[in-house]
Amino acid sequence: MVKDILIKGNAKMGSEVYIFNLPPKKTCTPTAWCLYGRNGKPACYALRNRYVFPSVISALEERHALSLQEDFVERMSEEIKRKKAIFFRFHSAGDFYSEEYARKVIEISKSCPNTLFRTTTRRRDLTDVLQELNSLPNFIVRESLDNERPKPVMGLPFTALSHMDIVKKEKTYRCLDDCPACDYYCWQHRDNINFDEF
Ligand code: SF4
Repeated sequence: MVKDILIKGNAKMGSEVYIFNLPPKKTCTPTAWCLYGRNGKPACYALRNRYVFPSVISALEERHALSLQEDFVERMSEEIKRKKAIFFRFHSAGDFYSEEYARKVIEISKSCPNTLFRTTTRRRDLTDVLQELNSLPNFIVRESLDNERPKPVMGLPFTALSHMDIVKKEKTYRCLDDCPACDYYCWQHRDNINFDEF
């Protein structure tokens, strides 16, 4: 059983950030780039590195099971408040797997007004509810673009790889890959973001 529902951000994110992750593939809609875009292997970091360790896979499955429980909103909200989380990232791995789950995230965000939330998504099939989530004052949802899906269609701000054409055409903020150094910019501004593939 996972000890903590929430995990702390890594060194690049800094100690102010908490994260809630879900299993990739099971919850997201991966593109060919996600699955094979790195010399035939996954480009998505949530399909490689530590994410393939059995202990990590099992922790993600447990969080998915937690998210299906009736008391998920209360448990998450209590935990976020108890930790006094300032910045919160949903889904470094995984995505919104249903409208019902997205509505639970809306309730969590509303009950934690002192926390700033952000996430990225490829769930174009859930556009309406994700626009509703993005309309909350403390939640930013960005559409994830890549070589397979180079144009935004969800009416949300977007994140794109820095080499993509859309980055040359549209105004974007360049991710520094060091959140304390950039003062947690993408939690506090609804700009489009560009980042280097890593
Ligand atoms: S834009 Fe800034 S805050 Fe956002 S992920 Fe990149 S470094 Fe972190």
